[in-house]
Amino acid sequence: MRDLVAGVARFQRDVFPAKANLFAHLATNHTPHTLFIGCSDARVVPELITGSEPGDLFVIRTAGNLVPAYNPGVDGVTASIEYAVSALGVSDIVVCGHSACGAMTALAERRDLTGTPAIADWLRHADASSARTPATGDVSALVRQNVLVQLANLATHPSVARALACKTVTLHGWAFDIATGRVEDLGAMDADSTLAA
Ligand SMILES: [Zn+2]
Repeated sequence: MRDLVAGVARFQRDVFPAKANLFAHLATNHTPHTLFIGCSDARVVPELITGSEPGDLFVIRTAGNLVPAYNPGVDGVTASIEYAVSALGVSDIVVCGHSACGAMTALAERRDLTGTPAIADWLRHADASSARTPATGDVSALVRQNVLVQLANLATHPSVARALACKTVTLHGWAFDIATGRVEDLGAMDADSTLAA
């Protein structure tokens, strides 16, 4: 915690003054161009890997960068997607997987998750990802396939489906490699709902 307090002091002393004009603008404006859906993994920092400024990205981070397919009911992920697309009008949505993902590793290695039932339940949203990946324990293949499955799940949300039909949004799949910093473009999905690399 001491690191965080020192970090806040450093932010207020060094970072904020240099961006004072930006924050003054952002105080009354929220117009991110992109919804970035990434993993909660501490090593995958959306703003850092995309060189983004505050205000640029609307971010949802979930374990395994999973996006449950649309299902009516109370759900923070769905509400955040709807807000980004319908209220904020983002023009692009990125689903970003990453190397050494704990969620994808657990699935690829078929780990026993009975002791962590909430994780086991959540990872069911990647069932289609596992089904479409050869059962060889290849984590990086599963990471990529999972991004494509989550893009398809994303498109089941009414707000996203509407924006795709109106050609106001494009969906993108990415994979980030922690060791090299490389970002692989896995393709984009547009109004025709076809994934083109
Ligand atoms: Zn992860």
